[in-house]
Amino acid sequence: MEYLVLTRKYRPQDFNEVVGQKHVIQTLMSALKNRRVGHSYLFAGPRGVGKTSVARILAKALNCENDVVENPCNECETCKAITKGSAVDVIEIDGASNRGIDEIRALRESVVYNPSSARYKVYIIDEVHMLTKEAFNALLKTLEEPPSHVVFIFATTEPERVPKTVLSRCQRFDFRMLTEKEIFTKLNSLTKLESINADEGSLRLIAARAEGSIRDAEGMLDQLVSYAEGQITANDVKEVFGFIGKEVYIKLFLGISGRNEKVIIEVIEDVIQRGYDIREFIYGWLKFIQRLLLYNLDIPDPTSVEINKELQKLAKSVSSKFLTAVLNLSTNMERDIRNVPYSQGFLELLMLRMARIPDLADINALIKEISESHIEDSSYKRAEEKLEKFKKEFPTDVTDLWKRIIETINNTDGKNFFKSFLREAKPVSFSSNSLRLNVPESHKEHLKEDIDLLKEACKETLGFDIEVSIVTSDGPVEETIRDDPLIKKIKEIFNAEEYI
Ligand SMILES: [Zn+2]
Repeated sequence: MEYLVLTRKYRPQDFNEVVGQKHVIQTLMSALKNRRVGHSYLFAGPRGVGKTSVARILAKALNCENDVVENPCNECETCKAITKGSAVDVIEIDGASNRGIDEIRALRESVVYNPSSARYKVYIIDEVHMLTKEAFNALLKTLEEPPSHVVFIFATTEPERVPKTVLSRCQRFDFRMLTEKEIFTKLNSLTKLESINADEGSLRLIAARAEGSIRDAEGMLDQLVSYAEGQITANDVKEVFGFIGKEVYIKLFLGISGRNEKVIIEVIEDVIQRGYDIREFIYGWLKFIQRLLLYNLDIPDPTSVEINKELQKLAKSVSSKFLTAVLNLSTNMERDIRNVPYSQGFLELLMLRMARIPDLADINALIKEISESHIEDSSYKRAEEKLEKFKKEFPTDVTDLWKRIIETINNTDGKNFFKSFLREAKPVSFSSNSLRLNVPESHKEHLKEDIDLLKEACKETLGFDIEVSIVTSDGPVEETIRDDPLIKKIKEIFNAEEYI
């Protein structure tokens, strides 16, 4: 089958085709109908949920040759030109690559001229939060007194980074993540339109893992079309994207609720061996437990397509208090696992701990039980030994480690500025998957530009990839000590301290 670019081909062309975002669409359509046109709009929300598509539809509706419309006709020359991206009066600007004062000055100069053929000149600025402070200031002057023929539509994933002075001049619309059901329905209709042979399970899996983004979901379906021969199945989805199937979680859950430590260790070793990303695994686990809890309490899952009988049965096999306790222990896992040097061991210990949750326990009893219990059986011992072994092999002195990384960089040619900036950076903390550096504010941007070089040097020195994060002494210092008493307790018992 020919490779399709579904996202582009099925980009919504009028308001009725937009998936979800009803609150936004209704308000915009009624404003258009009543000729209440604003001069600056801000579309805020996560990526891939339709902000730019709605901006283009709005641009068409404003300029449609059929006079006042609440929805563009898509038939007239202006509508067609905007769809093709060839309309001179609809200007799309990528805020990330045109972020400076010069670009905004040029924009301000062009704003004063009348549109060449359309009713309005529409400026769509994507990722507007990327503009520099100076650029925002220059833009603000235009926003304060916009020419009557100009409409600005700003799109952003990070509205909190847009200055308040700009926000206050805009009509703000918050786009939300799409539900699994909305994504599933859209995927289902796409497969029919394109005669793509995909089973229901595969579409549900994509919908669940697209995390609210229709664009990501369509992108995944695209990839699968070119990958799979014949029918696309849930297994194809798992193979292509490395998703962890629910049978893995079911097995783990049965191990925990049945207090079977051998099964728990087996599942986790299997997950590690197959090379699954641990954070991805934990994310899926959290969603799995949340879903079980909803089933257990007979609350309909707002994001799910329909009732899964197997999960429902599983959920009813334990008490809601047991599930709440498991959820409580799991909630901080994703955050805490970043701070331990040996994540497999941490994961094993936490899961084994869950197997010891007394059924019908309340949380206070759980904390008490955890603090009073002793590590004695062989599964714990083995996990502990692995942790010890790892500590011995791993360079734990961050200053020493930093020296070695600097040496690696100094042995490479060129990039002298970068090297001199690095001299003033101070390592703050180091764990198995991240290195945190403190740098003077003035060097921050320069270092960020060449962060890949630094990562490469880390990889060369350590033999594996790690994340590098940059903090400045002027900026907020992240809290690294966890205040949660439960997690503190777990860390104490599991001997999982942060490496500094
Ligand atoms: Zn039209």
